[in-house]
Amino acid sequence: ATSDEPAADSIAVELEAVTKRYAETTAVDAVSLAVREGEFFTLVGPSGCGKTTTLRLVAGFESPTDGAVRFRDEDVTGVPPEDRDVGVVFQNYALFPHMTVGENVAYGLNFADPPGGVSDDRRVRELLELVDLEGMADREPDRLSGGQQQRVAIARALAPGPDVLLLDEPMSALDAQLRERLRMQVKAIQQELDITTIYVTHDQEEALAISDRVAVMRDGTPEQVGPPREIYRRPGTRFVAEFVGDNNVFEGTVRSFDGNGLASVDVGPETFAVAPGERDVAVGDGLAFCVRPENLVIAADPNSDLETATATRATVRSAEFLGETTRVHLEWQGQELLVRTRDPLSGDVLVGFDPENAHVVAVDRTV
Ligand code: ATP
Repeated sequence: ATSDEPAADSIAVELEAVTKRYAETTAVDAVSLAVREGEFFTLVGPSGCGKTTTLRLVAGFESPTDGAVRFRDEDVTGVPPEDRDVGVVFQNYALFPHMTVGENVAYGLNFADPPGGVSDDRRVRELLELVDLEGMADREPDRLSGGQQQRVAIARALAPGPDVLLLDEPMSALDAQLRERLRMQVKAIQQELDITTIYVTHDQEEALAISDRVAVMRDGTPEQVGPPREIYRRPGTRFVAEFVGDNNVFEGTVRSFDGNGLASVDVGPETFAVAPGERDVAVGDGLAFCVRPENLVIAADPNSDLETATATRATVRSAEFLGETTRVHLEWQGQELLVRTRDPLSGDVLVGFDPENAHVVAVDRTV
């Protein structure tokens, strides 16, 4: 549940308690989701968490063991894919190699009515323009880059004018640079058409960059649904905190509260000041909180002072130079801490954080 649930009259696609079982595997476990009209909605999560199966249930390639799929107000649970008004793009472009780019796109048009004729040529030109491939109609697909092929696949999927666009890891076969470029293009196409889009990726960075809202999935169920900023800044659970971006998670016990509502939390031999936010916590409670690497403050000299409420000594284990910053791996009380710095660090350092930058999360799913 989030503060950001769509109003009933703006829902384009809805899953209601949808379950999909294969023999012993429950691929999708009682999923309820509502995607808004015109929304860019992303399913993200580790391998095997049920992203693809969820998308296939929306497309109609799979039918649920339980539950219902609705497009607007219409129950489409038993409706075959070709009658669902969806365009689908898969990971491996799946273009027809013996057809030109234009013929591939025109093939998509033939699902629309009225088919054939001069208007088709114009539509193909418009679609190729939309995906930034004007003038490429006569090319063979194998003479295009991976990113271009994927844009042809998108144009073909959009040709019949579907209400909903479904994309399953469309960029995972591309190299990093191409992926970044294509994701901006996909976002631009989606915004230009204002088309409801459901996107599947295992790449959390991509999910944050491209989406209006993200569902972080785990074991067949969304663990948290919300806008990228909320998912990043206010992860509900330890799993989400660690899956989305780098994070430092501390587990401890609440020792006391001060007059300002700050909790003192014992973590091993150290006591940290933490602002519990709207979490209801009491003295003696077990608690997990996380601090993003960019919110850890570092002093290279372990004998210096930090202007944070709490500071503790840690040891530098390794560093990765990333250009703008360096990501440093510290060891602290047998656990790893990640920090971002500009200056090189070595040996023992002092590390701390402000209580407001510690975000309390649920250890398991009970949020
Ligand atoms: P990936 O990122 O690896 O593609 P995913 O999150 O998309 O993973 P799914 O492909 O939806 O996950 O699979 C979810 C679970 O269901 C997995 O355990 C998978 O092995 C199982 N599964 C998916 N399709 C089938 C099938 N046709 N028959 C049996 N089990 C299946």
